Amino acid sequence: MKKLSILGSTGSIGTQTLDVVRQHPESFEVVALVANSNIQLLEEQIREFKPLFVGVTDLDKYEELKGRVDSSIHLVGGEEALIGAATLSEATMVVTAVVGAVGIRPTVAAIRAGKTIGLANKETLVAGGELIMPLAKEHGVEILPIDSEHSAIFQCLEGQDCNNVAGLVITASGGPLRKWSKEDLIKAMPEDCLKHPTWSMGSKITIDSSTLFNKGLEVIEAHWLFDMDYDAIDVAVHPQSIVHSMIRMKDGALLAQMGTPDMREPIQYALTYPNRLPLKAKHLEFKELLTLTFEEPRWDDFPALRLAYTVGREGNFYPAIFNAANEMAVYAFLRKEIPFLAIYETVQRTLGAYKERADMTLDNLFQVDQWAREKAQEILKEME
Ligand code: NDP
Ligand code: MG
Repeated sequence: MKKLSILGSTGSIGTQTLDVVRQHPESFEVVALVANSNIQLLEEQIREFKPLFVGVTDLDKYEELKGRVDSSIHLVGGEEALIGAATLSEATMVVTAVVGAVGIRPTVAAIRAGKTIGLANKETLVAGGELIMPLAKEHGVEILPIDSEHSAIFQCLEGQDCNNVAGLVITASGGPLRKWSKEDLIKAMPEDCLKHPTWSMGSKITIDSSTLFNKGLEVIEAHWLFDMDYDAIDVAVHPQSIVHSMIRMKDGALLAQMGTPDMREPIQYALTYPNRLPLKAKHLEFKELLTLTFEEPRWDDFPALRLAYTVGREGNFYPAIFNAANEMAVYAFLRKEIPFLAIYETVQRTLGAYKERADMTLDNLFQVDQWAREKAQEILKEME
């Protein structure tokens, strides 16, 4: 029986994780749930899964929920709730399904507490991969990818001698604006970007899909998860989102993992690894016509992807700044304060303003992350 602590249980990944749990009550038990503010859904989840620990990071919402849950539940408010759930002694696995770099502290705490990590929260590894991967190694903790591309690569790599693997090919749907002309991109609005053609996801990652920041974040995530040089990581646009990613062997063979665009597949694999369980879902059928196409990303029109390689190669805190500035810009775009192309511009200008290199420590990471958010905010204010 795996005992799960789910950080971000009310989100897209969180609710799909609970759906996997619902299908296998004999294999999984939910011991902790944390959300930010959606206490209505959280309350339903509490009633259904009866966790020992519940966290609400928004303090007003925490106060609101307080009187409504059974007194036997340990209810915690504020950011501390994430740490509490991540280190809960009863938990054996922590699913990090919060969005953004807010996931760093609880992921670090969970690793130090020896918990297996089911990693959906890519921003954490982008910003802190250089610190988090060695920390996990030191504590003998497995980080199991939930992001579909990384799960695909992880599955293809199973049983391979890493000396035989030459590289990775990360697939990208191309996002909602894949076919938009360069001239039209200037006019893209949040509602255009939120119409993802193949995946149904939270709003931040859906915007990231339309800018290709998401693919950039995934390239950096793959670099850390699989210890792969940036030169050996390719990106191929594959609009059908059936081939979830591939590995390239040194003799040229390509191994691919395929499935329907349903996150429950990679979520369940992280939960059951190294075993497998049946999953009730619409699986890939070859009775229907299946067309797979691949194309080169539009590097110049969606420059975030190239920038990700640049900051990844630069290392130090550049990926953390790239991530923090993007988070700030995405929410400003969602609030309709800036136009679409200003997301990239904000990130580029924030990176340009960083002139130092600091020692790779967690304290410095939090400081640089904070600095990048303030700098991005200044730049965003100028653009409004
Ligand atoms: P959502 O926006 O749907 O959900 C985010 C979850 O995190 C919600 O439960 C939200 O709570 C909670 N949350 C947000 N901010 C905080 C905070 N400060 N403290 C505590 N909890 C917080 O996001 P997704 O599920 O789409 O994405 C989650 C992560 O997984 C992201 O890093 C994303 O990149 C990654 N991912 C997502 C995929 C997908 O298909 N959705 C695919 C691959 C990766 P509340 O509901 O109360 O606001
Ligand atoms: Mg992905």
